[in-house]
Amino acid sequence: MTFKERVLLIPKSSAVIVFSISVLVMISWLISQGSPPDILRHIKFNTAFCLAMTSVSIWLMKDPPRKGNGKLISLAQCLSSLTVVIAGATFFQYLFGIDIGLDEIIISDKGAYSQKSLAGRMSPPTSISLILLNFGLIILDHKPKRWKRIGASTFLIPAIILPIFAIIGYMYGEDALYQYLPDIRMALITSVCLLILAIGALFCRPGEGALKVLTSEMIGGIGVRRLVPVVFLLPMILGYLVLLVIHKGYLDFQLGFALLIGSLIILLMSIIVFAGKKLDGLDLERLRLIQAREELLSIASHELKTPITSMLLQTQLMQKVLKRENGDERTKKYVNQVETQVVKLNRLIEDMLDLSRIRTGKFILTKEQIDMCEMVREVIGRLKPLFEKSGSGSPQIDSCQHTSGTWDRIRIEQVLNNLFTNSIRYGGGKPIHVKITDQGSSVQISVKDSGIGIPAEKQDKIFDRFERVGMIKESSGLGLGLYITKQIVVAHAGKIWVESTVGAGSTFHVELPKNDSSTQGVLESLPKQTRET
Ligand code: ADP
Repeated sequence: MTFKERVLLIPKSSAVIVFSISVLVMISWLISQGSPPDILRHIKFNTAFCLAMTSVSIWLMKDPPRKGNGKLISLAQCLSSLTVVIAGATFFQYLFGIDIGLDEIIISDKGAYSQKSLAGRMSPPTSISLILLNFGLIILDHKPKRWKRIGASTFLIPAIILPIFAIIGYMYGEDALYQYLPDIRMALITSVCLLILAIGALFCRPGEGALKVLTSEMIGGIGVRRLVPVVFLLPMILGYLVLLVIHKGYLDFQLGFALLIGSLIILLMSIIVFAGKKLDGLDLERLRLIQAREELLSIASHELKTPITSMLLQTQLMQKVLKRENGDERTKKYVNQVETQVVKLNRLIEDMLDLSRIRTGKFILTKEQIDMCEMVREVIGRLKPLFEKSGSGSPQIDSCQHTSGTWDRIRIEQVLNNLFTNSIRYGGGKPIHVKITDQGSSVQISVKDSGIGIPAEKQDKIFDRFERVGMIKESSGLGLGLYITKQIVVAHAGKIWVESTVGAGSTFHVELPKNDSSTQGVLESLPKQTRET
């Protein structure tokens, strides 16, 4: 049985348990003609009826709405609405001190009451709990659109509070927590039933609202699931035992109370420390798995690099031979296609290797004095065939003052390469402009295309790992190019940003300090702990 199926057993069993109890109570009221045995007397017929309807509603609601169960969910909402009406009308009678004859509508209560009008009436907290519980069920899947932060759990959680207080009251013999009028109390069985139903209702939609963390399969969820029962039961049981000892006369009240608080502090502290240790262990395990994955990625990329480089050389050699020996056009076309795919594969492997270097902290900068204008011209020269093929022609360099600084040659070439290849891929074959400006202590390079552009909400995201915008084109990579570009720029203590309008084009700006002394390009590396292991 999967975890999800096990979670769904909670609403199912809560509905079955409470339905059986309430049917038993109703039968006993009917058979005894209004004089059920004492143990059941405090659960009024109306209460049992409302509890039965709520259980059926939970049973029908246990599956989220899908094709084919719409009618069942509507039926559940009708039953819950009827319960809200009955419980609401009961509360209304208390509020205005009136009797509308609702309490004995099906069976008259033969019990002795100081006030005849209270005969057969459910208690005020039972009616409040039933209203909250059923209102939560009604809006379980169909809450009004205007309620942004309010969900079913906003009603279901308060519905649990009153029965819990009543149960505590019964445990500690304090009737103020369940007895509201001389003849009116929330029966122990009613409180337990309401508690079971509210929990069942909450678990109808485990991944939502307050239950999201409790039913998650992540570290937080596991931790919370282990802690909730302890935190819930420990104070209750400990308090009960201390009170018992006080009543027996072994301790006076002050000492018993002080001992209770002291032992609660010690026990809760130990639980917190124990939970912290467990979470640390789980977190370390997770980090080790991440590290193992990074290593696998790195080894796989290294192993793939050699055969791919050799394939690339061989296809280029084949192209040369075909050209020299005037090979037929079809073969040339096929070899060309193979080369395009191998180039793409090579780029993906390069990206993966860079990613792995960044993640494992092996991304070291080797800086030298470089003239940016010269470097830009060189990179453009190398990419000339691609620019020509795209139809944009080689980029115009709008301005190029003498701008030199100390940077890592290979890495900055990679930055320029990424920006230019993106302007080719997404520039729509329109002219590309490059501007290099001296900013005093830094140099700014701007690459402008007039292509598809990037929507405003995506402009920050494209610098994240694996982020791509819109349709994935055949020419697209893994969505790592700009991430690696940003890592290189930031490792040089620089900045990268984009200005873009959809349909009008994009301008990528890179600002690099001329002389930054850092050599370590580790940015998003793993925590120190895992790098050392
Ligand atoms: P990829 O390898 O997929 O091109 P990049 O990290 O280089 O990944 O780019 C991320 C995404 O940013 C691209 O998939 C593309 O959607 C968008 N993008 C990058 N450059 C440009 C540009 N000049 N014009 C429009 N969109 C761009």
